Amino acid sequence: MTDLLNAPEDSAFRAEIRAFVEAELDPATRAKVSRGSPLAREDFLRWHRSMHRKGWVAPGWPAEHGGPGWTARQRLIADEEMFRLHTPPLPGFGLKMIGPILIRFGSPEQQQRFLPRILSCEDWWCQGFSEPGAGSDLASLRSRAVRTDGGWLVSGSKTWTTYAQYANWIFCLVRTDPEVKKQQGISMMLIDMAAPGVSRRPIRLMDGTEEVNEIFLDNVFVPDDLVVGEINKGWTYAKALLEHERLGIGGVGRSKHLLARVREMAEAAGLGDDPEISARLAAFEIDIMAIEATTLRLLAAAEAGRTLGAETSLLKVRGTEVQQGLTELMLDIAGPAALPGSAGDCADALFANVAYQFLNWRKLSIYGGSNEIQRSILAGQVLGL
Ligand SMILES: Cc1cc2nc3c(=O)[nH]c(=O)nc-3n(C[C@H](O)[C@H](O)[C@H](O)COP(=O)(O)OP(=O)(O)OC[C@H]3O[C@@H](n4cnc5c(N)ncnc54)[C@H](O)[C@@H]3O)c2cc1C
Repeated sequence: MTDLLNAPEDSAFRAEIRAFVEAELDPATRAKVSRGSPLAREDFLRWHRSMHRKGWVAPGWPAEHGGPGWTARQRLIADEEMFRLHTPPLPGFGLKMIGPILIRFGSPEQQQRFLPRILSCEDWWCQGFSEPGAGSDLASLRSRAVRTDGGWLVSGSKTWTTYAQYANWIFCLVRTDPEVKKQQGISMMLIDMAAPGVSRRPIRLMDGTEEVNEIFLDNVFVPDDLVVGEINKGWTYAKALLEHERLGIGGVGRSKHLLARVREMAEAAGLGDDPEISARLAAFEIDIMAIEATTLRLLAAAEAGRTLGAETSLLKVRGTEVQQGLTELMLDIAGPAALPGSAGDCADALFANVAYQFLNWRKLSIYGGSNEIQRSILAGQVLGL
């Protein structure tokens, strides 16, 4: 596949990433990632610790807080190489979400207390935004915080909380003022998952896993020093948090890795020359190149000082459509071999987990703002409709 991130100056950086991964990633974890198998907490943590020792764990953080000082282009290249070499993803809720928010809006005490533990993954964070009845319309959230001596008492419930079973901290949006316009009465609070009144119930998904959870908050005491920034400014922080997700939202690294796997599957199934499969693969390749070119164009704009706006929604929509489309193609190629326990002779590990991955990745067009919502943003803010 043509690579737009292959200028001469990119090669040394690529080689450095490759050498590190080859030396550090254990073969068993690599095999799990390459087959798209579910990962255990320890699989994530082992890789996180290696990356932390190397100082590469937080590419999006400023160097003074522990970031590696990479350019946006280097971050994309690292991302691409890591996917290609089957490294586990780094748990993102601390590194990509609450960490950058604490860097920008947290108190010095919060920064000193939490940032080093996010970098080392001594703390695993989860995100308590969505509620039953408040997903796309997040500002309707109803978890309530009531003032008490020295802090707040929080009651309510959160849902779809990814990997809460691994987490010891949760950052939550809660309503601190029910009297004002709904966006203006929300605050962001940091809650210890072991605090009295916090409980969790796993949600079984259609892929058979329990990756997400319901979280119940029953009069949980949150001291004042665990409120992020100012009371009733939580909506501003929540919007800033989503901005940190924008780089790499098109998932180019992930799509390239998946495309290579689907090609390999087509060969293994004797469909390498099938005209329909070849045409579908070629169409995905073209889409991925277009997403990569758009990503680079937006990156260049960001590096020139322009704030990335609503056009990144385009990357989310097209990127997730390609990724989901590739898992559909995987399923078509695998046929009955996709059924659990029926890997078949030609297929072995290459075909394992195809059904799981197809089902699991339905989530891509839902979380982080559903694709329908992204389309409305594009229509209103980019096309002016
Ligand atoms: C696997 C998974 C993991 C998640 N992890 C987390 C997490 O860790 N923390 C967290 O806080 N949340 C998490 N979420 C929640 C996620 O952010 C929400 O599911 C998402 O915002 C959609 O909200 P909803 O589920 O309430 O659906 P709804 O908002 O009820 O939407 C239902 C459908 O209606 C469409 N729709 C809604 N409003 C509009 C509109 N105005 N115009 C057009 N179409 C519309 C939606 O696109 C969707 O198709 C996760 C979700 C999933 C599936």
